[in-house]
Amino acid sequence: MQWSAIKAHNLEVVGSNPTSATISWCGSKVEQLICNQQVGGSIPSTSSINAMKELKGVVEINEIISELVSQFDCTCDMGLDFSYYYDSSKITWTVLITETADSSFNEFVKKEYPEITADIFLWSLLHEIGHHETCDFWSESEQLHFDKLKDELEKENTDKDYLTSCIEYYHIPDEYEATKWAANYILNNEDYLKGFWERLQEAIINFYVVNNIE
Ligand SMILES: [Zn+2]
Repeated sequence: MQWSAIKAHNLEVVGSNPTSATISWCGSKVEQLICNQQVGGSIPSTSSINAMKELKGVVEINEIISELVSQFDCTCDMGLDFSYYYDSSKITWTVLITETADSSFNEFVKKEYPEITADIFLWSLLHEIGHHETCDFWSESEQLHFDKLKDELEKENTDKDYLTSCIEYYHIPDEYEATKWAANYILNNEDYLKGFWERLQEAIINFYVVNNIE
């Protein structure tokens, strides 16, 4: 398996009830790369992304994701991380996962929204749509200020631990509002998302299987 950064993760069902089931997949505890901060680990170079897009099952995943993001006039593509591009309203998604002791975004959303159960892939995707839906909240100077805070967090990585930096990042107002939008969307569209996630996780599991990723 040449894509060492790709690891199957436990896919979680959507729901606002805390007892919902988890589909067991790979047993290892893994973290999905969700923010744009620099992180360690074996991440393929940008040139690898085009080869990665050639992997079996990528087109099928993208088609399902497109059904959701197109409802918000966004487009989507596989990328090296989950991102939202303001200029083109494009959202990138990833199956790249970095292993750390804990999943920081998962930890953050579980603490902020204990009533919601959803897979971190879905949270990450909806967070990016949340950026699209909330970016008008901010003036240009506010957005510049947030970007500066993010730059500073990246530079501070040496004296702050990774989890602390990530949690601070998620609290920067534009990030916080994007996640809040995602939470409200999940709570208001549970039935739709359950069906959507069933099809999407089937496509992701198929991707893992046909490419022999464990
Ligand atoms: Zn974000």
